[in-house]
Amino acid sequence: MNLKSLFKQPQNTLEGTESEQNVKVNAKTGDFNCPGCGAPLLRTEVRVNYYSCPKCDYYFRIGGRRRLDFICDKGSFKEFDADMISHDPLTFPNYSEKLDAARQKSGEKEAVICGVGKINGYPCAVFSMDANFMMGSMGAAVGEKITKLFEYATENKLPVLGVTVSGGARMQEGMVSLVQMAKTAGAVKKHSDAGGLYIVLLTNPTTGGVTASFAMLGDIELAEPGALVGFAGPRVIEQTLRQKLPDGFQSAESTLKCGYIDAIVERPHQKNFITALLKMHNGGFCDAVN
Ligand SMILES: [Zn+2]
Repeated sequence: MNLKSLFKQPQNTLEGTESEQNVKVNAKTGDFNCPGCGAPLLRTEVRVNYYSCPKCDYYFRIGGRRRLDFICDKGSFKEFDADMISHDPLTFPNYSEKLDAARQKSGEKEAVICGVGKINGYPCAVFSMDANFMMGSMGAAVGEKITKLFEYATENKLPVLGVTVSGGARMQEGMVSLVQMAKTAGAVKKHSDAGGLYIVLLTNPTTGGVTASFAMLGDIELAEPGALVGFAGPRVIEQTLRQKLPDGFQSAESTLKCGYIDAIVERPHQKNFITALLKMHNGGFCDAVN
């Protein structure tokens, strides 16, 4: 085998996933065709259907704040650390410009929104990642915001709900981003030891360093239908192993079959499903046994 080709940088599989979202909208009518089934769709019918196609259930990617609207009770969410941002610790080429562009594109200052809210009346610490901000990648600010949220939840005896979407650690921050994996995992462990419930909702895609840290450490792991959940993406694995992977590899459905996650929950039912879990766990916090 030619070593050069073995280590040839494969095309990032997430680039393809993201480009699927670039739906061409008719500027006059606001209509477009579903990327899943090709059916012509009205913007309004997609909106009332939780941003999914009413014909084939194709899930459109939605921003972190819209997620919060779907899950938290109206007006209940109070954001923490809204101004915390990543800088450019390695003066990585073009990183500052990319951060500026991501802020413009997403309207967010960072790739995660953290705070407390109520879910059908149950108080809960919540974080929601945003794919529009550098594919939800985890740099220093994302790791710090999530860690601080867990610490707040532990101190205030609140459960944590995390909605994940991410391409993984943010390579432009090098080791600073990788250390966030250990830091967030430590905060999750302390929260768990104190008796706090942690529920994760994995959305498309959740990969890389985020999967290898806080995204897979939930007491209960939920996923959206069809969500890609894995560490390295399927195209990277195929190109490295030179093997064809089975259909649906790393989809939420296949990870459920493997016992990697606990349930797949459709978008319209997520709030009530999470509420039932909080109710079942007596509000999501119990005094630690040990
Ligand atoms: Zn469709």
